[in-house]
Amino acid sequence: MLTIQDLVVQYPKTEEHAIDHLNVTLEKGEFVCVLGKSGAGKSTFIRSINRLQRPTSGTIKWEGTDLTKLSEAKMRRVRSEMVMIFQHFNLIPRMTVFQNTLTGAFGRRAPYKNLFGIFSEQEKKRGFLALEEVGLERHANKRVEALSGGQKQRVGIARALLQDPKLLLGDEPVASLDPSTSRRIFELMKRIHEERELLSIINVHDVQLAKEFATRIIAFRDGKLIFDGKPEEVDERM
Ligand code: ADP
Ligand code: ADP
Repeated sequence: MLTIQDLVVQYPKTEEHAIDHLNVTLEKGEFVCVLGKSGAGKSTFIRSINRLQRPTSGTIKWEGTDLTKLSEAKMRRVRSEMVMIFQHFNLIPRMTVFQNTLTGAFGRRAPYKNLFGIFSEQEKKRGFLALEEVGLERHANKRVEALSGGQKQRVGIARALLQDPKLLLGDEPVASLDPSTSRRIFELMKRIHEERELLSIINVHDVQLAKEFATRIIAFRDGKLIFDGKPEEVDERM
């Protein structure tokens, strides 16, 4: 489903490769956790997949299409199948939970909707269902500033659900949350992953969380893949 061949990512004015000749194939249904110390290349890896970061060389094939060769217009279409959950939530300030969920998912296609918050009845209905799915229906009319960190991340997940994703990407989605909230966010992501039969690729620096939830773990060090295997094979010091 996602085949990465000889991927190199090098940032301008740097000597090292942030991703160094990576080869890996990930399949639908896998819940992949990505481990590695800060600076190992986890974030660069995730952002190369949805092309927030342009690779230096190599190929990234998503369902047979090489994303590194796509025009920006075609990439936009493909990107709509990929959702990203961020460490810092990336919510729109001063908007309510409901407005954030809908604007994030449907606002992009018609920017004017951002200004007026006009959505079809069907979109509103889907928005409410997504909030129910993440357990936030009672908070729909709260401003996002009033939420806890875990609740903010649930808004991020509800917004992602409205895109009907096939691929769930997480760039340290629980790094700013406490341990019990982190576990609940992982439980939610895993439930959604299973219900929708996604491919999920989640960066996490907590080895225990990865071992508990992942079906497959990969680990980076200095941009190189140093582990690819089952959770029970992971060395705790990774
Ligand atoms: P991780 O997510 O594992 O912490 P990153 O992918 O953020 O790792 O970083 C991998 C390497 O690339 C690090 O050496 C980091 O300093 C470098 N790097 C990341 N982003 C940039 C950037 N925008 N410009 C230059 N170097 C970067
Ligand atoms: P986070 O833990 O949220 O990834 P970081 O401190 O690793 O935070 O990175 C914050 C931002 O800075 C990211 O957008 C990353 O790409 C960028 N960045 C990281 N390392 C470097 C670097 N060496 N040079 C320039 N930008 C970097």
